[in-house]
Amino acid sequence: MKTSIATVSISGSLPEKLEAIAAAGFDGVEIFEQDFITHDGNPRDVGNLIRSMGLEITLFQPFRDFEGLPQPLRDKAFDRAERKFDLMQELGTDLVLICSSCHPAALGGIDRAAGDFHALGERAAKRGLRVGYEALAWGRHVNDHRDAWEIVRRADHENVGLILDSFHTLARKTDPETIRRIQGDKIFFVQWADAPLIEMDLLYWSRHFRNMPGEGDLAVGDFTRAVMATGYSGPISLEIFNDQFRGGSAKTIAKDGYRSLIALMDDVRRVEPSINIDLPDMPARLPVTGVSFIEFASRGNEATALEAVLASLGFRRSGTHIAKALSLWTQGDIRIVVNRETTGYAGNAYITQGTTVCDIGLSVGNAAAAVSRATSLGAVPFKQPTGPGELDIPAIRGLSGSVLHFIDETSGLADVWTVEFTQTGDATPGAGLTRIDHLAQTMSYDEMLSWSLFYATLFQMQKAPMVDVVDPDGLVRSQALETADGAFRITLNGAETHRTMAGHFLADSFGASVQHIALSTDDILETSKALAGLGFAPLQMSANYYSDLATRFDLSAEMLTRLKDGNILYDEDADGAFLQLYSQPFAGGVFFEIVERRDGYNGYGAPNAPFRIAAQKRQLRTKGMPKA
Ligand code: MG
Ligand code: MG
Repeated sequence: MKTSIATVSISGSLPEKLEAIAAAGFDGVEIFEQDFITHDGNPRDVGNLIRSMGLEITLFQPFRDFEGLPQPLRDKAFDRAERKFDLMQELGTDLVLICSSCHPAALGGIDRAAGDFHALGERAAKRGLRVGYEALAWGRHVNDHRDAWEIVRRADHENVGLILDSFHTLARKTDPETIRRIQGDKIFFVQWADAPLIEMDLLYWSRHFRNMPGEGDLAVGDFTRAVMATGYSGPISLEIFNDQFRGGSAKTIAKDGYRSLIALMDDVRRVEPSINIDLPDMPARLPVTGVSFIEFASRGNEATALEAVLASLGFRRSGTHIAKALSLWTQGDIRIVVNRETTGYAGNAYITQGTTVCDIGLSVGNAAAAVSRATSLGAVPFKQPTGPGELDIPAIRGLSGSVLHFIDETSGLADVWTVEFTQTGDATPGAGLTRIDHLAQTMSYDEMLSWSLFYATLFQMQKAPMVDVVDPDGLVRSQALETADGAFRITLNGAETHRTMAGHFLADSFGASVQHIALSTDDILETSKALAGLGFAPLQMSANYYSDLATRFDLSAEMLTRLKDGNILYDEDADGAFLQLYSQPFAGGVFFEIVERRDGYNGYGAPNAPFRIAAQKRQLRTKGMPKA
């Protein structure tokens, strides 16, 4: 199976695009004509450059407004085609994409178009070239792959075939099952794209909002199964027009594309095992049974301050590492490691980001399988030298240089806490915190799709609908990913401006990272009381918030008083209730949240977020910390 991507899908100059595409692991590229024209170099050199990078040119595209023209326009269209053929031969590719005509003078008629393609097939054959016909969703006469296939069938020429594009088929809601009736060897090429469901003009939707398979809402899986069931064996190629990607990191977008394509093909063969997909085996998406640990890189006063917050939350310093400057803080099933090492990965993370979550440990059924699936999808394993007595825990690099460790029961890795840590006897009654409810990662809005794709292709997680959170200084988009049982939940918060609380944190921490950690309690009112005894300083909510709460929900006066006294936020959904309280932000904007979920409440208290953010901003200003 050859993987490919259109140069138009990513940002940069042509050489930059090619470099990113090669580095991501693709086998080939579709040359989008405009990317070639804007490049200052002749076609032979471009072809050689591409091949020197280990890539092949899978397709040259697009050639527009060819079929159905009356004379003299028809002759001119054939002349234009000959010039494109010259260029293709110099580049070193044998296949051109001809998209269905939008020309105002183009005439309809399946036979007329078939005749034009037969004649073009004759000319292409003389040069050993092939032409592929794609139905644009907004083509003047042909806008459905079924019509394009009928034209190709009637053209009846060995050098003329069909090109399918998931967007054009799915955007018009054409049933992808109809593809199964097409002859597989007559499908010369297939392009993949997904898109969010938005009601808008098809052309505008296609040119600006396409995204990687799995990032949108189209039935790309059904399309793929139908395509592969025909016996199609050509390249699997991405053609993504997306405004964010055009401005994003070429390397990241190319890697996302590779990850999405491989995950898609793996999904297809799992759903329909009779389909033969030429792709090495890989483990299935992993179930995650919880967060095993969170590790902060920190130093000096900042580390002392972090540990003081942990102590005030009822955490117990329960161990110190046998060889490294690591302390382990625990409560219930929660483990938080404070890493003061000045070298290695954590040392570097501190230098670039200050006090930051540098490592997340996830409990999975099989840690080695997690690494194997991740690397099959293009992730890089993470290795750090282990000292005597230390376990080699499987890990990968996440996005933005982050690290994910995988811990399982079967391989003895779960014993790391007793093997690598000497137990200390500090005692505290605790505050009733039981486990990590969710991690909230902050990133720029442009990176959100990359992160959700990363998690959704690696783990068995569902995406919740995107929520808009209003910060007094801008909008933050929030997207939750969660396992079906809620054992692992992550919220991705995408900041569009540095003036938002999230954006300010992002600028301050030099890249995406965990901004808050939400800890569960079974009884937040009791926890709140215990925290007061421990000297915990909650984020102060405004009196206005509680006046409003009284009008929004049917709460007793006593309950309202307890919420207000504890600075506890409250929300309800159709199932139950959600109670939250927050720590004050520390170390540039990191904070803890404490949550109680009642009766199957499944959200994250999004209606409360604007009030929480406003309270945090008030706090930062009064403390004279950097202004948001
Ligand atoms: Mg296309
Ligand atoms: Mg939260």
